[in-house]
Amino acid sequence: MKLILLGAPGAGKGTVAKMLTALDGSVQISTGDILRGAVQAGTDLGKEAKGYMDRGDLVPDSLIMGIMEKRLQEPDCAKGFLLDGFPRTIPQAEALKVLLNKLNIKLDMVVSIDVPREVILDRLTTRRTCENAKCQAIYNVKSNPPKKEGICDKCGSPVVQRADETVEAISHRLETYNQKTAPLIGFYEKEGMLHSITGTSSDAVVNGIKAHLKI
Ligand code: ADP
Ligand code: ZN
Repeated sequence: MKLILLGAPGAGKGTVAKMLTALDGSVQISTGDILRGAVQAGTDLGKEAKGYMDRGDLVPDSLIMGIMEKRLQEPDCAKGFLLDGFPRTIPQAEALKVLLNKLNIKLDMVVSIDVPREVILDRLTTRRTCENAKCQAIYNVKSNPPKKEGICDKCGSPVVQRADETVEAISHRLETYNQKTAPLIGFYEKEGMLHSITGTSSDAVVNGIKAHLKI
């Protein structure tokens, strides 16, 4: 399947994407994971992106499009992909449209995951992420803690609160989302590609997607 997952930070895009990869071998492409990996590896891309990310600001569109243009041409995308955290602005959505045309790729649909703001705030402040750039497993201190406190079940690395998950950075990210990313809902509605799913359980969102795709 070839999907875009839209939704506020904390809406569950990453969790839903991981569940969908298990269905048909489509790959999850998270620009946030790619950027955090670059920051940890200390690459030029990482150095350029870090300041924006720590403040909860968006990384410039040109950097993101450079990443995605390469990523979408890697062979593992042929089976399908789930775009998680991209596009995030109207210019990115427009550039993606041009890029997909050029690569002759057709999306199945754009899924907007709607979750109430209180749920989002609670999830983000209690979210913890595995520090290992190759793993980045997600936990929640309330609903899904690691078996050993502070240690990743999957790889044994420390599980930490992200630098952009302080209360201040979170409210800034939500504001950025409302200003820059929420308009994509209208954009894809006009394109006739949008399916909105309301639900706080990732299982319900995945079932909604399966029903739309008839799988
Ligand atoms: P979340 O969805 O929880 O906010 P992500 O992991 O998707 O977090 O992104 C973390 C940060 O990486 C964002 O706050 C932003 O700085 C940067 N980022 C990720 N994807 C994009 C994108 N498509 N455009 C611009 N910045 C991005
Ligand atoms: Zn891990």
